[in-house]
Amino acid sequence: MAQIEPIHVIGGGLAGSEAAWQIAESGVPVVLHEMRPVRGTDAHKTDGLAELVCSNSFRADDAEANAVGLLHQEMRSLGSLIMRMGDRHQVPAGGALAVDRDGFSAAVTTALEAHPLVTIAREEIAGLPPDDWGSTIVATGPLTSPALADAIRSLTGERELAFFDAIAPIVYRESIDMNVAWFQSRYDKAGPGGTGADYINCPLDREQYETFVDALVTGDKTSFKDWEASTPYFDGCLPIEVMAERGRETLRHGPMKPFGLTDPHRPEQKPYAVVQLRQDNALGTLFNMVGFQTKLKYAEQTRIFRTIPGLEQAEFARLGGLHRNTYLNSPKLLDASLRLKAVPRLRFAGQITGCEGYVESAAVGLIAGRFAAAERLGRQVHPLPLTTALGALLNHMTGGHIEAGDEGPRSFQPMNVNFGLFPPLERMPNTEDGKRLRGAAKAIAKKKALTDRARADLATWVGASQLPVAAE
Ligand SMILES: Cc1cc2nc3c(=O)[nH]c(=O)nc-3n(C[C@H](O)[C@H](O)[C@H](O)COP(=O)(O)OP(=O)(O)OC[C@H]3O[C@@H](n4cnc5c(N)ncnc54)[C@H](O)[C@@H]3O)c2cc1C
Repeated sequence: MAQIEPIHVIGGGLAGSEAAWQIAESGVPVVLHEMRPVRGTDAHKTDGLAELVCSNSFRADDAEANAVGLLHQEMRSLGSLIMRMGDRHQVPAGGALAVDRDGFSAAVTTALEAHPLVTIAREEIAGLPPDDWGSTIVATGPLTSPALADAIRSLTGERELAFFDAIAPIVYRESIDMNVAWFQSRYDKAGPGGTGADYINCPLDREQYETFVDALVTGDKTSFKDWEASTPYFDGCLPIEVMAERGRETLRHGPMKPFGLTDPHRPEQKPYAVVQLRQDNALGTLFNMVGFQTKLKYAEQTRIFRTIPGLEQAEFARLGGLHRNTYLNSPKLLDASLRLKAVPRLRFAGQITGCEGYVESAAVGLIAGRFAAAERLGRQVHPLPLTTALGALLNHMTGGHIEAGDEGPRSFQPMNVNFGLFPPLERMPNTEDGKRLRGAAKAIAKKKALTDRARADLATWVGASQLPVAAE
């Protein structure tokens, strides 16, 4: 039998370690290139693979009520190394899965070192991988070394690889009170692909605006780390609270300007300021708060943004932030199997694809590893069902996000897995005697129905793909 050529993986973090494991477990040799300890990053402190650079939490572990819990379950069922070692090195954390970071990283390193099909090369890849490597997965994360980042940027173009994120909060559409808010584009302009009613608008009167500005100015903020503070992005996309500090009217002449909008609920009263939300995904389930990138602490964001009329009951799929980050404009650049459209021998995985978080990064590594291995073995790759956590996340990275043509930060910003990425249920669950559920009971039943659907569809996909599954 002809020898199988190895697949190369660059970056031994959460995504690269998982991708390498999946490739090797599929029977394909893999070379994992990790630059630590030869060259460090500003955040990593060890030379261990899959180092957790900050918190030690994989977040909620409830597969019936939480999207990241469902992602854990799907990854476990597909033989994830990151989840297996996370479970093995769990520390008490209530309903969350938290891990002993040193034990976890050491276990991932040992497992990969011991695998007969894995070779680990401790070296920086300081430019594009050579052509003769063939299939290569780039999983170098938010702190990709500058030489490789520059090389990728020369392939993708200046605007398509960002060095920081500027995340505005994202709200579930169904939690916005449309008795207060309304759909309208400024001056009813349709724009390319628009209808003239593309934004959700939330009106503030003068008193509400003044109170809101005070809350932003006094709200509790997170600070930049020393090495982040030198990232040259501030004038391009100021945090909303910094705009508020620059003058009480700044926001009213910036992202909260009320011009070209008429409140249909109170047409006689001109709003003093308006918060606009723009559709974020093709499904229409998520809306982002335009221009609201922020360094406010998460609890403060929830408290302060719920004072905006129409958002009193808002549920946030993602809260805002600004970080040093390296990530692609993936919906434009990557195909559905995470290959760079312009250079298909290169696949991307992990946070560099625009997902956010340890678990999501590992999940995208898992998918990329399986796709690359299947391709090398000449096997057909069946698309992941969009109804699964893995499929919903992949779809958002590679096409589900709607790009906005506005100025300001690029509209594709890093995303955690959340139920807003899943296609809505065809039928809402009812009570046993057929009555409509309400309130908390409705929310619980909906999440259960979404996760049940995901489990069933993943099982069907695994069967159709004839994939190896977890052997416990
Ligand atoms: C400061 C900071 C704090 C964070 N805190 C959290 C948190 O608390 N919770 C959370 O869920 N997420 C957090 N994140 C996000 C986190 O980075 C990702 O969730 C996750 O680590 C990304 O996984 P990854 O595999 O894509 O990248 P990483 O885990 O960073 O792995 C990338 C690897 O590539 C290596 N590398 C880079 N360039 C090269 C090169 N040219 N050649 C060879 N190797 C290279 C790096 O050394 C690194 O080991 C944080 C990110 C940062 C930057």
